[in-house]
Amino acid sequence: MKRQTKHIHYAAFWAPIFALVPWTSLCAEDGRSTSIAITMRSGNLISGTVSEFDERGLVLLAEGKLLPISWDDVETPSAYQVKKKLLTVIRGNEDSLTAEDHFRLGYFLAVRNHHTAAIAEFSKARKRDPAYATRIEQAWKEIQRLKEQNKTPPENPFDGPHANSPRNEAAPDSPSQTDVNYLKLTPEQHQEVLALCKDFGNVVREETAPDLVLLETTHFLIWINWPENTRNQIADWAEQMYSVLCREFGFPQDEPIWLGKCPIFCFKNKKQFVEFAKRYDQYDAEKILGYTRTESSGYVHVVLRRLGNEPADLDRFATTMVHEASHAFIHGYVSPLELPAWLGEGLANYTAQRVLGDRCRTGAESVAVARQFVQLNRSLTDVLKYDREELPPEYYPIAHSLVEFLIRTDRNGFVNLVRELKKNQPFATAWSKSFKTLPLSDLQREWESAVQRSLP
Ligand SMILES: [Zn+2]
Repeated sequence: MKRQTKHIHYAAFWAPIFALVPWTSLCAEDGRSTSIAITMRSGNLISGTVSEFDERGLVLLAEGKLLPISWDDVETPSAYQVKKKLLTVIRGNEDSLTAEDHFRLGYFLAVRNHHTAAIAEFSKARKRDPAYATRIEQAWKEIQRLKEQNKTPPENPFDGPHANSPRNEAAPDSPSQTDVNYLKLTPEQHQEVLALCKDFGNVVREETAPDLVLLETTHFLIWINWPENTRNQIADWAEQMYSVLCREFGFPQDEPIWLGKCPIFCFKNKKQFVEFAKRYDQYDAEKILGYTRTESSGYVHVVLRRLGNEPADLDRFATTMVHEASHAFIHGYVSPLELPAWLGEGLANYTAQRVLGDRCRTGAESVAVARQFVQLNRSLTDVLKYDREELPPEYYPIAHSLVEFLIRTDRNGFVNLVRELKKNQPFATAWSKSFKTLPLSDLQREWESAVQRSLP
């Protein structure tokens, strides 16, 4: 099978190695503009100034790029040092850290299994305020309980999970089925292809990973060698992605959008993942966590690996999986033509947020990075110019923000834009047919004002 296109996700490995810049004076009272150097779990060292940060991550301005970084992707000791540094800037000096500050630092460490350092922070919290003893005891119990259930403890021990579940909205005007499904196969032909897809999985099992098991769902063949307790969850996310996109794009839920079913290979280690990519896709996957292979015949497969075994790594995996699988879905919609890079990546990240809610960081990152992008007076042209060319990773959050803005502005218009582009209409034509009240020339201004309205 000839590879036509291939989608590469950068998750956790995208940050290039930046030169280490010397510390500069810390001036901002709220920790912004603080210079930091941070060690990523990928081994990369990134330096820059902090644009904003919260309990789950930060936005770093590094060599002119706005990089969203999740604490989960940072080496714990490095994340801890940076968090402490930011708190020190905010409080004036290290001795002024409050009991609450120490408690949160301790919690951050405890959740990530750095127990000795966690105990040290907790004891500082208790020294500042003895009343913290009870909360510390509760925190340990809660972390233990959630770990046993393989759930990620919340970053902020008091907020709990945010209510951010996928929205339930009315489907847009349904286009006719023949219009959206270019695969004109009979059910028998689909069955035949499905059998071939399964044969392929069996070959992979024999050649690459003998412990792969098959989890077959309505639309997917999930080949996985992870612990049993995560498998059903993964199958649910994949099917939820399918339903969300069917609703969003008016595609019939019971129709296959690809040939047979979409195989998703979930490898437990890097070696198997890299070997698969090399052997079957002639692709060097050393530095990524997942990718999608798509062919104009309608065949797709998604290949993924997990960065680690912590619950947060499962969330990261889920984000990559939904992102990649949504590329596979869109590939089969209307025609196998690729969408402009910014639109495809923005939609993939947006879909991950819709499906995964609070487990996903892409929404929060898009808000934070878009805010900084607007403040720096950057032009959207820098993002929109990426059509056939791969979108640079630092623009993913902006692409996400744009897609969300367009969907909120006019949902049917957005669906129509995708359909027109898949029918090979030039971009300007597809746009003017889809967004009648939003000329392309007004996009920057309208998007900026939406971003500013969402300021906290
Ligand atoms: Zn992608």
